[in-house]
Amino acid sequence: MYATLSAARLRDAARASIEELEIVLVSPQPTLVVRPRLYEPNPETLTAPLDDVLKAIDVRYVQGTVETIDTRGRSVEIVSKADDRHHRLTYDRLVLATGSRLFRPPIPGLAEHGFSVDQLDEAIKLDRHLHSLAGRAASKARDTVVVAGGGFTGIEVATELPARLRRILGPDATIRVIIVERGPAIAPDMGAEPRPVIEKALRECGVESRLGVGVAALDDAGVTLSDGARIESMTVIWAAGMRAAPLTAQVPGERDNFGRLLVDRTLRVLDVDGVYATGDAAKVPCDDQGRHALMSCQHATRMGAFAGNNAAAELLGVPTSPYHQKVYVTCLDLGEAGAVFTRGWDRKVEMIGAKAKATKKEINTVWIYPPRAERAAALASADPERVTDL
Ligand SMILES: Cc1cc2nc3c(=O)[nH]c(=O)nc-3n(C[C@H](O)[C@H](O)[C@H](O)COP(=O)(O)OP(=O)(O)OC[C@H]3O[C@@H](n4cnc5c(N)ncnc54)[C@H](O)[C@@H]3O)c2cc1C
Repeated sequence: MYATLSAARLRDAARASIEELEIVLVSPQPTLVVRPRLYEPNPETLTAPLDDVLKAIDVRYVQGTVETIDTRGRSVEIVSKADDRHHRLTYDRLVLATGSRLFRPPIPGLAEHGFSVDQLDEAIKLDRHLHSLAGRAASKARDTVVVAGGGFTGIEVATELPARLRRILGPDATIRVIIVERGPAIAPDMGAEPRPVIEKALRECGVESRLGVGVAALDDAGVTLSDGARIESMTVIWAAGMRAAPLTAQVPGERDNFGRLLVDRTLRVLDVDGVYATGDAAKVPCDDQGRHALMSCQHATRMGAFAGNNAAAELLGVPTSPYHQKVYVTCLDLGEAGAVFTRGWDRKVEMIGAKAKATKKEINTVWIYPPRAERAAALASADPERVTDL
């Protein structure tokens, strides 16, 4: 979304016409899936329309999924699910912004029995399953949810669940939510300062943790852990690990362990002419201290704004701008215990409880949504130097 907006912004700024620079967005649906919110109830409501904003900025929308990329011939093959039609679109510059997917290792039973909150359809499937539990007799397996992975997503989904399950199963159900985390501490990437806040929140929400053990196998009645322990559960949510979306594999560039394409500071894929990669699909340095952008919405929006701007700049013959993101914050939802807001790469805690929760709500309901469908406002929202750096 931001790549499209910023390319259109530069086209206007350079006084180029839509004949001189045509911008096309290819996507399965003309909507933004508000992915950072998929741990919440009612996931089917967590999309925002893009058609009106695209019309307002003269961007052509093509419905479909890119199945193949021919970087030599500079074209993509698009498949439209609605009518199974295949067609080819040529490009002068391609911005690959296909995001990421949850990584599911080959653990027995995971593919068949594991739920997730990674993609819209998966979050909807989980929500339907949780509601279907109300029609079953109370049992340990019905009333227990296991969350595999105690990182950002695992914590957000786990702390949301007790209240969500109480609403579905009633106040008398003996609800248990258990995080299984292979590392020795919860929130392995969060560092020492926010961890006590998170641990207290888990206690307040009644979320248990099993640390230092992994999920070894799943079946329809529960999960077996790596130490042999068994937890009876009809609901196991996998929240451990991300990989760049599979399309990145078709671009002949170097990749990191997450499958992200290595790009330079302009977001151009190294050694591949005409291709930019951005968001969760790209690994880019974000400052001069050797740090790289993370697979996060916070980085993806700014990266997108630079990628679209730079792809357009090359074609319009104006200078490109190097991506930078000096500010890094985290705002972790902690269910009924509020939230925790940290600033900086060393994650200094700046807000907790209700105050942090209000910021999380603002981020989740305003900042990560598309701009309003009004040309000047929409284009201004994608100025790479202005896209929120918090
Ligand atoms: C539950 C959850 C909570 C999160 N919480 C946070 C948070 O609090 N803060 C934060 O910063 N980040 C958070 N994230 C991470 C954040 O959602 C991602 O980093 C961000 O969405 C990445 O943006 P993106 O545009 O690169 O990719 P995506 O948002 O994944 O978008 C990729 C788009 O490309 C489309 N696409 C994929 N393949 C193709 C194809 N072949 N052809 C055409 N279109 C294609 C997809 O349909 C999708 O619309 C969270 C993620 C999850 C799942």
